[in-house]
Amino acid sequence: MEPLYEGKAKRLWATEDPDILRMEFKNDATAFNGEKKAQFENKGRLNNEISTLIYGFLEKEGVPTHFVRQIDATNVEVRKVEILMVEVIVRNLAAGSFCKRTGVEEGMPFSQAIVEFSIKSDELGDPLVNDDYIRELKLASPEDLAFLRKSALKVNEILGKFFAECGLKLVDFKLEFGRLVSDPSQIVLADEISPDGCRLWDLKSGEKMDKDRFRRDLGGVMEAYAEVLERVKAAVGA
Ligand code: C5P
Repeated sequence: MEPLYEGKAKRLWATEDPDILRMEFKNDATAFNGEKKAQFENKGRLNNEISTLIYGFLEKEGVPTHFVRQIDATNVEVRKVEILMVEVIVRNLAAGSFCKRTGVEEGMPFSQAIVEFSIKSDELGDPLVNDDYIRELKLASPEDLAFLRKSALKVNEILGKFFAECGLKLVDFKLEFGRLVSDPSQIVLADEISPDGCRLWDLKSGEKMDKDRFRRDLGGVMEAYAEVLERVKAAVGA
C-alpha cells in the first residue's frame, strides 16, 4: 500500500473510513527546508507521544483539532482535512528567522505575541507573506485569516501557560490548519505540535529543548525531546 502523502516527518495513510486518515510519525529529521537531513531512533515515537498529549490538552481547552486518537507508538488517527496553504507562526521571543531578518539578538521578548504567515511551499522555501498577499493569492479569505490569527493567539495563550508548567518557555511555534473534508465550513488545527515545530527553552537554564539542537549541531537532540515528553506527561498527569 502506498501512503496518500509523504512529508518530511510524516506519512498519511487511508483508512476504511473516508473521513479518517492514519498519520505516521517518521524518524526523519530535516532542517533548512530539507537541506540538512538525519534520522533519529525514537523521534517518531517521541513526537507522537508529545503531540498526542498536547492535542488532547488543546481539545479539552476547547480548541478544535484534527486529532481523533492514538493508535500505537508512531501512529494516530486524524480527521481528514484539506490543509490550508498558509502556515501560521507565533513568536513570543526573538529567535530563528526573526533574528536573521531583523538583526535583533536572540531572546528579545516582545510586548505582544507576533503572528506571521508563510506560504506552505517547500519549492519556494515557505516565504513570509502578509494579509494582502494571502488575499490576492487566494490562500485564505480575509475572514478565514482573521480566524487563523485568533486561533493561533488562543493556542499561544494556552500552550504558553502549559509549557511554563513544564518549566519551558514557549519561544515560537508553527501551526497548520485544515478544512474538514466532512464539513468544509469547519477549520481545525492540523499537523503536529512537537519540538520539531516549536522552540522551547528551559526556564531555569535557558537550554534549547527543541529542533534547534539538530539545526545547530548542539547534540543531545533525542535526550531533549525525551525530557520534553517527561515534563509534558507530568503536566497532564499521564
Ligand atoms: O525559522 P523560524 O524562526 O521562522 O521558525 C519559527 C518557528 O516555526 C520555529 O519554532 C520553527 O520550528 C517553526 N517552523 C516550522 N516549520 C517551518 C518553519 C518554521 O515548524 N517550515
